[in-house]
Amino acid sequence: MKIGFIGLGNMGAPMAANLVKAGHEVTGFDVAGITVDGVAAVASAAEAATGQDAVITMLPNGDILRSVYTEIVPAGDKGAVFIDCSTVDVDSARAAHAMAADKGLLSVDAPVSGGVGGAAAGTLTFMAGGSAEAFARAAPLFEIMGRKAVHCGDAGAGQSAKICNNMLLGISMIGACEAFALAEKLGLSAQSLFDVVSTSSGSCWSVNTYCPVPGVGPESPADNGYKPGFAADLMLKDLKLSQQAAASVMAKTPMGARAAELYAEFVEGDGKGRDFSAMIEQLK
Ligand code: NAD
Repeated sequence: MKIGFIGLGNMGAPMAANLVKAGHEVTGFDVAGITVDGVAAVASAAEAATGQDAVITMLPNGDILRSVYTEIVPAGDKGAVFIDCSTVDVDSARAAHAMAADKGLLSVDAPVSGGVGGAAAGTLTFMAGGSAEAFARAAPLFEIMGRKAVHCGDAGAGQSAKICNNMLLGISMIGACEAFALAEKLGLSAQSLFDVVSTSSGSCWSVNTYCPVPGVGPESPADNGYKPGFAADLMLKDLKLSQQAAASVMAKTPMGARAAELYAEFVEGDGKGRDFSAMIEQLK
């Protein structure tokens, strides 16, 4: 396929590289002038979107996505599928779908989980929203860049799934940190708590796979000085998106709201640039 790729940052660059490796013809643009081996560089987003079978965006936020779509949708070829893999607010995702639909283009919102490591290894999980036809067109590319793609529903369903998942993750990580911090004050070793919780009703990904205490459980950022991993700043971004979405449909998410407050305090303090599991140090 001929693919345009816009946004070649920490995630976009390795994703584009995997498409090249799989034999696709990729043209790329990043406003910061980033280039990727094997990806033909062009001077604008519109140029990258012209004459392609698929156009993928991997951008920082919804405002940037909307402005890039204003440029690239008019340039898109009829029959092309536009795939947005950025994590953005649900309203911006739906606005991008609407712009594409007005031009007769297929579109998918397909945020990812798996981080920079998953992007490099081609093991991302895609959560997708859009028509069945659009999803089917994008699926072969998801197979290259990832290990699993779930079609979650119509326009915006991918972003909805992503923020619900990450809201739960933020809450569960704070819960795991609280439990280990309390155990320490009670004189209970972290290893003992891990051995119990990881096989009991409190088990969850934040404890079993990504334990916030060093030397306990499988290797995690805690064993590496809390180098991300998944940065606290990105967790805060996703928690804010969850609260924006909750407000827009008047959903009650008191734990999500508190998690957003705690991560905001953490990032304003010494959490910026650290893994989100370093929250345990703040609680201690
Ligand atoms: P990044 O900041 O490294 O990359 C974004 C890129 O977009 C940058 O290179 C920037 O120059 C480029 N860009 C900005 N405006 C542009 C424009 N108008 N035209 C072209 N390019 C433009 O961020 P990232 O870590 O690659 O994340 C990208 C998206 O993926 C974000 O929405 C993020 O929330 C999401 N995400 C990131 C991770 C992660 O672990 N990094 C994990 C899951 C999801």
